[in-house]
Order: sequence, then C-alpha cells, then structure tokens
Amino acid sequence: MAVAKKEFQAESKRLLEMMINSIYTQKEIFLRELISNASDAMDKIYYKALTDDSLTFNKDSYYIKISADKENRTLTITDTGIGMTKEELESNLGTIAKSGSLAFKNENEIKDGHDIIGQFGVGFYSAFMVADNVTVITKALGSNEAYKWESNGADGYTIEPTEKDEIGTEITIKVKDNTDDESYDEFLEEYRLKAVIKKYSDFIRYPIKMDVKVS
Ligand code: ADP
Ligand code: MG
Repeated sequence: MAVAKKEFQAESKRLLEMMINSIYTQKEIFLRELISNASDAMDKIYYKALTDDSLTFNKDSYYIKISADKENRTLTITDTGIGMTKEELESNLGTIAKSGSLAFKNENEIKDGHDIIGQFGVGFYSAFMVADNVTVITKALGSNEAYKWESNGADGYTIEPTEKDEIGTEITIKVKDNTDDESYDEFLEEYRLKAVIKKYSDFIRYPIKMDVKVS
C-alpha cells in the first residue's frame, strides 16, 4: 500500500524552502543542529530519570554516532535519546513549534535570512541545506513501535511503521550531488566532519563517535 504524503504546515514550508534554496555559505551548521537535537533527546531521558525511579541513567549508554557512507552519499546521525512517538514526529517535524525555529521565523519577517541562520538555531530543517532527502527512524522511550519519517523537501513527508531495536533516533541525510557552483562532497569527509564538530559541538557532554565508510 502506498503511504500517503502529508503537506508541511505553511510556515514550515516557507522555512524549508529557504533551507533548500539556501545560498548561505556556512551550510555546515546543519550538523550542529542535528547534534544538538541528539544531545537534547538524551538530556530528556536524564531529567526523566531524576524523578522516575523505574528509569536508570547509565551514562555509558548515551552517545551520538556519525556515520558517513561515501558511496551512497549518506550521512547518519544516531542517538540513544528519548525518541519520538508517531504523534511527536508529526508535530515536531511537520510544524514549526519550537524555540530555535520560531525565533528564526519571527526575525525573518523583518530581515533577510542570511545572518539569521548563523545567529539562531534554525533547527532540524537546516539538514535540507545539504540533503535532498531526509529519513528519521525513531522509537520513543516506553513504546514498542518504531516509525519512519521521510521527506525530500517542500512537497511533504510520509510517516510509516518500521522496525528499530533500540530506543532513540537515527537521522539519515542523502547528501546533495555537487553542482557547478557548490560542492557537498566535503560533508562525507571525516576530516571535515571532525572540524565541524570541533568548531560547534565541542561542549556537547555526550561522546560523539565517528565512522566513515569509503565503499
Ligand atoms: P528545537 O531543537 O529548537 O526544538 P528543531 O527544529 O531542532 O527545534 O527540532 C524540533 C523538535 O523535533 C525538537 O524540539 C524535538 O522535539 C524533535 N527532535 C528533533 N530531533 C530529535 C531527536 N534526535 N530525538 C528526539 N526528538 C528530536
Ligand atoms: Mg534543535
């Protein structure tokens, strides 16, 4: 059965289109955004564990993994955070509701987008600066069901059931092909990814593991 495609809420669509057509030079900040979301998701388990005796927080189980596959042009960011239910996928990734994106949106009404991207966390949609397809596979804490959210940009997204063993989220971005004016290959290179992580995510308090597959 074909999975129905849903449209993004109008404001999300606008932000998304800005990201897709971005001529912003520091496209690398998408990685900062995805890593900070991964870290937030693990913090959420940590805070829950403080008040919920049935939960234990074993620090060693919480990490972020970045895997690049040059041959398939994919970059995957995996976390062992709180994950998302189907409803959360819908409301968190289909609409702009949250702090960073909202600040961006409001500011954007008065200024043009460029320095805004650097100034604020622009959030999850920034992945579309470097990706022509984004897949999110996630399983929420306390749930037995996993879901896959997928979008190739402005024309909408799909959500369908999938399999995933562990609680947490795995985001795979299909890195754009190079064009005459822009190179995206660098986002599949270990040295480049490491430099971006060092620059923006040095303060993240979970380990960031890296795995680059050449072919
Ligand atoms: P913000 O981080 O400012 O809230 P984002 O656009 O970066 O905005 O993310 C939107 C929302 O999507 C987050 O608030 C969170 O609820 C959800 N989300 C994004 N990435 C993850 C993730 N890796 N794990 C769990 N939830 C996530
Ligand atoms: Mg964020």
